[in-house]
Amino acid sequence: MGKYELLRARLAAELPQLQAELALPASDGELALVHTPAYIEAVQHGTLSAAALREIGFPWSPGMVERARRSSGATIMASRTSVRDGVAANLAGGTHHAYRDKGSGFCVFNDVAVATRLMQTEWAREQASARSSQERSLRVAVIDLDVHQGNGTASIFQGDDTVFTLSMHGARNFPFRKEAGDLDVDLPDGCGDDEYLHALEQALDELERRFEPQRVYYLAGADPHEGDRLGRLKLTFDGLEARDRRVFDWAWQRRLPLTLAMAGGYGSRIEDTVQVQMNTFAVALSYWQMWQRWQNRVS
Ligand SMILES: [Zn+2]
Repeated sequence: MGKYELLRARLAAELPQLQAELALPASDGELALVHTPAYIEAVQHGTLSAAALREIGFPWSPGMVERARRSSGATIMASRTSVRDGVAANLAGGTHHAYRDKGSGFCVFNDVAVATRLMQTEWAREQASARSSQERSLRVAVIDLDVHQGNGTASIFQGDDTVFTLSMHGARNFPFRKEAGDLDVDLPDGCGDDEYLHALEQALDELERRFEPQRVYYLAGADPHEGDRLGRLKLTFDGLEARDRRVFDWAWQRRLPLTLAMAGGYGSRIEDTVQVQMNTFAVALSYWQMWQRWQNRVS
C-alpha cells in the first residue's frame, strides 16, 4: 500500500506538469454494469464470507470499500479524460482479478471492466441521439501487461466481440487456473527484456490483425521487474520502459485514446516498484504532450 503514497509524492515533485484530480467513488449503478448486486451489497455492508475475504487478501473496513469504489471511479474519470486529451491515468486500479461476483488477489471491483461498460453505454447513447447507426458498439482493447493473468477481465468479457482482452503473464504465476482471454501470452520464469519485447511485438501484431479498437486500456503492472518478489520474470528498468513506450506508441500511431491503470508491483525494494511506475508516468506524459501538440495543430 505504501507505494501509492510514495508515487504520488514523487510525481508531484518530479513531474509537476501532471494534473492530478480526486476521483469520485463509483456508484452502485456503475458497478452493477459488471458486478452482481449481491456482491456489491456484500462488499458495501461487510457481509462477505471469511473465505471470500481470504480470496481478496485484505480485511474488510469502510475504508477498504471507499478505496475500491474510488479506484473504479478514477478509471472512469481517466477514461473520459483520455477521450478528450488522448492519455489519462488512474494512480491505482488495474484490479483485473475481480470477477462479476467475487474479488480475488487484492482486487475488489474490476475497474477497467466497469469503465469499459460505462464508456460503451455512454457511447451508444450518443450514437442513438445522433441517429448514427453504422456503429453498434464501442470497441475496446485491454492490454494487460501485469505479470499476473487478467483472469477476472477475461472471464467478464468472454464471448463479447466488442472487447478484446490481451494478457501477457507468467505461465507459472498466480492465477494458477487461467481463464481464456482473446489473446493470452504465457511467459516462462526468468523471461528477460529481449524475449519479452519480442513477444509483445507479436501480440500487438495479432491484436491488430484480429480487432479494430477505438479505445485502449493499458495495465502497466510493475511486477515483471527483476526486483519483484512475486513476478518471477527478469525485466530491467530499461526493458519495462521500452515496453511502456511500445504500447503508448502503438496507441498514438492509431490515435487511440489510452487510459492507463497501474496494476501490481511488489518490489523487494519498494523504491524499485515506484521507480518503474515513475518511468511509466514519464512515458505517459510525453505521449500526452504529443497529443496536445497534435490537437492544437489540427484545431
Ligand atoms: Zn500482478
